[in-house]
Amino acid sequence: MTRPGFGALSSAISQVQAAIRRQHCPPPSYSPAQQVKASMRCLKCGGLLTYEVSPINARTSGHCSTSGCIRWND
Ligand SMILES: [Zn+2]
Repeated sequence: MTRPGFGALSSAISQVQAAIRRQHCPPPSYSPAQQVKASMRCLKCGGLLTYEVSPINARTSGHCSTSGCIRWND
């Protein structure tokens, strides 16, 4: 029997980061032209996930409104 642990959470975070990069980091620069501040539906719990993307190195950070759910800071 397996329970969702750190592995499941970190893979949800990489899926969210991939979705954000697809939307905001188009080639050839793979970075947004300016700071992005937006929100999307959380892929893990369906809650509200707010995130930011930096124009420098396309660094992302974000967190889900559900406590204990997705939270990361690149
Ligand atoms: Zn969530």
